[in-house]
Amino acid sequence: MARPKNVRDEADFVIVGTGAGGATAARVLSAAGLDVLMLEEGPNLRVEDRPREAVDALRTALRGFGTTTSTGLAPIPFLQGCIVGGSTAINSGIIWRMPEDVRRDWIERFGLGELVEETGLTKAFEIIEEELEVDVTRADVLGGNSEKMALACEKLGLPGKPITRNARRCAGANQCLQGCPTRARMSMDNSYVPRALSDGARLHDLMQVERVIIEEGRAVGVRGLTLDKETRQPVGSFEVRARRAVIVACGAIQTPVLLRRSGLKGMVGERFQAHPGAAIVGRFPDAPVGMGYGATQGYEVPMRERGFKIESLSLPPEMLATRIAGVGAEWQERLAHMDQFAQWAVQSRFKAQGTVRPGLFGGASIRYNPLPSDVKQIQDALALMVRMMFVAGATEVHPGLGGGIPDVLTSIDQADLIANMRPKPGEIHLVASHLFGTACAADDPRKGAVRPDLMSWDVRDLYVMDACVFPTNMGVNPQHSIMGVVWRAASKLANQERLAKSA
Ligand SMILES: Cc1cc2nc3c(=O)[nH]c(=O)nc-3n(C[C@H](O)[C@H](O)[C@H](O)COP(=O)(O)OP(=O)(O)OC[C@H]3O[C@@H](n4cnc5c(N)ncnc54)[C@H](O)[C@@H]3O)c2cc1C
Repeated sequence: MARPKNVRDEADFVIVGTGAGGATAARVLSAAGLDVLMLEEGPNLRVEDRPREAVDALRTALRGFGTTTSTGLAPIPFLQGCIVGGSTAINSGIIWRMPEDVRRDWIERFGLGELVEETGLTKAFEIIEEELEVDVTRADVLGGNSEKMALACEKLGLPGKPITRNARRCAGANQCLQGCPTRARMSMDNSYVPRALSDGARLHDLMQVERVIIEEGRAVGVRGLTLDKETRQPVGSFEVRARRAVIVACGAIQTPVLLRRSGLKGMVGERFQAHPGAAIVGRFPDAPVGMGYGATQGYEVPMRERGFKIESLSLPPEMLATRIAGVGAEWQERLAHMDQFAQWAVQSRFKAQGTVRPGLFGGASIRYNPLPSDVKQIQDALALMVRMMFVAGATEVHPGLGGGIPDVLTSIDQADLIANMRPKPGEIHLVASHLFGTACAADDPRKGAVRPDLMSWDVRDLYVMDACVFPTNMGVNPQHSIMGVVWRAASKLANQERLAKSA
């Protein structure tokens, strides 16, 4: 049946976005018997219909093919999923509960005691972990990339460990980015979205919400454009009315854009934070790595006290080729031995804060400039990763840096070049996929855009339930904490509805 170009619909709860936040809200509200409609800009694809080749996979599932960047001298790309499942549809399923110091900080500085109350949050994590098959990566699916990192940790006495992920049945296909081909990874498109649908929720994909409709200080619906599946260009328009509430869950960049376009101001778009990262590759000719097999990310070295976390990060060959140094015959020789290469990445908890605003010509305008201490922190991490690679048996490390750092390092001492470099903007190539802030929760409208129950301070029945509500970044992978926090807020909303109905 042809897809209608112009759509009108209504529901009690309209949820915009189906990523970690939106899908969890849909899971909780629909299980409580409430009338839920999910709207998603990206397509709803079965995993067998998602392309396997990396470039096509990214074009299909990544917003703007990863071209959303910060403004300034050294633009940082910000990766965001744009598909049913949001960024969880392309992530590696790494699961970390919210660190205790973060929880306490939010209570003390932002008055979020009820939202992140210990017993309730722990209970939410336990349910999510059970439902999403969370487990430690098994030894038989670690793969060579992670095994090399484990060896480095053993030799240097570092606190490495296999990663806990939402993929208990992982078969080591190394295709998290393209969508797990065996459906083992419990991304939202493979878990909470179908679960909500089976509990009676509905979903419209390829719908780009442009405005929240606000009448007399209350959110009463949304309107926007219906998109063509192939071109993603507008083909029509829609308006959806929300009888009870609108829940915005478009992620830390798109949510403030939508809210500001809808007329909200104040703290909306402020306090943008991230965990920018960088990666290096190394060559291990004596004991090949075989990156094609194993969990995409199977092993990690958490070093929160130093502000970063190191992770193995396997690439498909077409992406690895772009990271291997050299030209001409030298490059071709290396390409012929791709199975000898490993890639490791660092995610770093930067102190910098930025702002997000609607772009002049559409999209988002993001101001974000790492502080000198942030840059130093990532240099420390990169230097450590270089040392780790050499002690694990690498004969070459390709750091991928500017600033006069050789393209190919051949001795462990050269790690000091990175530790001591004074990089100019752009000489360390950063990319960020853990994004926070921009509509943060607080008990005071001067500190946050939404209340501790995640309803807007300015517009009644308008909720934000995604990474935006985090007042700070965390130093660990965010998906689980986003789900835990949203679970708490959505459960409270469902209880209020129950009480209102029984009154
Ligand atoms: C490549 C990658 C790897 C990652 N790996 C991990 C990991 O292993 N572990 C971990 O914990 N975290 C990981 N993350 C981060 C994690 O996935 C995100 O922090 C989390 O998914 C954010 O949840 P969210 O609900 O805020 O936004 P998202 O999950 O990004 O969902 C937002 C959704 O809203 C939709 N949307 C946006 N604007 C509109 C609009 N105007 N109208 C309609 N729909 C809209 C988007 O298309 C998207 O589907 C990774 C992220 C990326 C990009």
